[in-house]
Amino acid sequence: MAMSEPPKPRSHGMIQPRASAQARPLMENRARPNAFQAQVLTLFPGMFPGPLEEGLTGKALKDGLWTCEALDIRRFANDRHRTVDDTPAGGGPGMVMKPDIVAKALDFAAKKRIERGAGQPVIYLSPRGAPLTQSRVAELAAGTGLTLLCGRYEGVDQRVLDACSVEEISLGDYVLTGGELAAMVLLDAVIRLRPGVLGNAASTEDESFSRGLLEHPHYTRPQVWEGHGIPEVLLSGNHARIAQWRLDQAKALTRERRPDLWAAYEAEKAPERSDAENSAEKAGKKD
Ligand code: SAM
Repeated sequence: MAMSEPPKPRSHGMIQPRASAQARPLMENRARPNAFQAQVLTLFPGMFPGPLEEGLTGKALKDGLWTCEALDIRRFANDRHRTVDDTPAGGGPGMVMKPDIVAKALDFAAKKRIERGAGQPVIYLSPRGAPLTQSRVAELAAGTGLTLLCGRYEGVDQRVLDACSVEEISLGDYVLTGGELAAMVLLDAVIRLRPGVLGNAASTEDESFSRGLLEHPHYTRPQVWEGHGIPEVLLSGNHARIAQWRLDQAKALTRERRPDLWAAYEAEKAPERSDAENSAEKAGKKD
């Protein structure tokens, strides 16, 4: 596959929409040498960084902790209409994103990754993908960057996904109109785990999913709100009791709301428990 700059569209005497061949380098000039590199291949580059420009991810972008480059897939189309899709083989409704066009966009992104010397994953946001989990988010955040492919229409031709070893990740069991919002959600989850992004790094250690449980409930002032008080233990100043209460709450919430997570948590704890039981049994036999 070609790794060079895509050809400029030929003029046919008509006003052509001028999609940029260059990924939109969003505040890239301030990027630090170890900035996390996010490349997004999309038919709607104007959507990025979008909401990621606000709040902590926005501050991190301004501070050069990560870069967000939106690359217009349509720029790689080679006909006068910039066609990126075609009818599904075998018939049926909708359109499918063409493999040759998507492959050129992926090649272009790969070349940019190579320039930065990073072996980064390429992810296609897809309802058929593996569900996104906090552990996969943490793995991605530990890397140097990623390339996200956003589908539209019925999705992308399977051959390009297979040929380019693209990982498929789903946001959940529902269908969006396109992969862009899913890409933003994934990026938000990843960027907040990058060093220096959150004010208090400890806040990611205890939160939902980080240790297989949902997080405990939170309270703040006023001490009494509309007749409802804060659980007494949280006002006790006894850190051991508070930690135990929070763990108990996290377990109860997980058991009640997420039987799937609870079963996994229990299964993970089972070997520890049986070790403890085994030791107790052995100790009992000795006595
Ligand atoms: N025909 C596809 C199917 O039934 O699986 C749905 C295509 S959807 C209308 C268009 C694009 O939105 C997909 O190619 C994908 O990039 C994105 N998308 C939709 N739902 C998604 C989800 N749950 N997670 C991640 N991406 C999703």
